[in-house]
Amino acid sequence: MGFNSSGLRALTNIYGPSSHETKVSDFIVKQIKGFVDEVTIDKMGNVIARKKGDGPKLMIAGHMDSIGMMVTDIDDKGFVRLTNIGGINPFVTVGERLLFKNGTIGIAYHEATADMAKLKLEKVFVDIGAKNKEEAEKLVAIGDICVYSPVFNESDNTVSTASMDDRIGCFVMIEALKRLDTVNNDCYFVFTVQEEVGTRGGKMTAFAINPDVGLAVDITTSGDTPGSKRFAIKLHEGVAIKVRDNSLLSHPAVNDKLKALCKENDIKHQMEVLEFGGTDAGAISLTREGIPASCLSIPTRYAHSAHETCSKEDIEAGIHLLTKVCETKFEI
Ligand SMILES: [Zn+2]
Repeated sequence: MGFNSSGLRALTNIYGPSSHETKVSDFIVKQIKGFVDEVTIDKMGNVIARKKGDGPKLMIAGHMDSIGMMVTDIDDKGFVRLTNIGGINPFVTVGERLLFKNGTIGIAYHEATADMAKLKLEKVFVDIGAKNKEEAEKLVAIGDICVYSPVFNESDNTVSTASMDDRIGCFVMIEALKRLDTVNNDCYFVFTVQEEVGTRGGKMTAFAINPDVGLAVDITTSGDTPGSKRFAIKLHEGVAIKVRDNSLLSHPAVNDKLKALCKENDIKHQMEVLEFGGTDAGAISLTREGIPASCLSIPTRYAHSAHETCSKEDIEAGIHLLTKVCETKFEI
């Protein structure tokens, strides 16, 4: 099956920072409704799609929200100041185009500073082309959130754009649903809100669903670029099975099952030991009395920048593994 670039482009082009995921959920519901038995959207905006099967209750979670920046202040000259919504790196923000919900575009730049190593987001401003505060206030308001403006690039091997974290997880779930026929688990495909500000949608939905096993589908970083931190994850080496991050020690029985499925089905995979971060899998695992959980990660270069870059073959491996997870009775 060919790589669905146009579908990924459409999904990553949608504005959807934490707490403003509605346009993303509208798109996803349209994509999946023919492939699931029921879809509900809860009060907080999480999408819960169920594909019924005779077997354990499996929750698969990908987050719809992206990181963003919220307007804190507009000065007399019309320059806009920001605070972070999720993990924002000021260095990769400077020089980028920022997109607001109403379509306003701003350019992020930094105050003159003697020591760029000390650059903080509070020294970054956004120029939205206004001559003064009054003009600026017609375009943006305090509390508005901007995101990195998406520019989709594709090579034979890779795709890159903003918000790949975690639209790529949502994409893997959507594509898996399209390919699935009969499933042997009671599968809940959950598209969560507000992951980037503390895995909040994962907490809400895991409590409601109370699954037997939880899996997140999210990005991880990579250790394969010049001078990168030591990390045994490379692009084009397959889907990553998480062993740890700061929110989770994956349940060994879940990972054994995932590894066995990769082996049986010739799915290229690698093991992820991440020394920071967290995903919805962490939230799921701490729900109620505890739920065995792990995470399928898509290796991503330049995570939390405007140009998050993934490998098409790793994405395909993720889709393949997720279909096998749903088709095989996931008893642990
Ligand atoms: Zn993520």
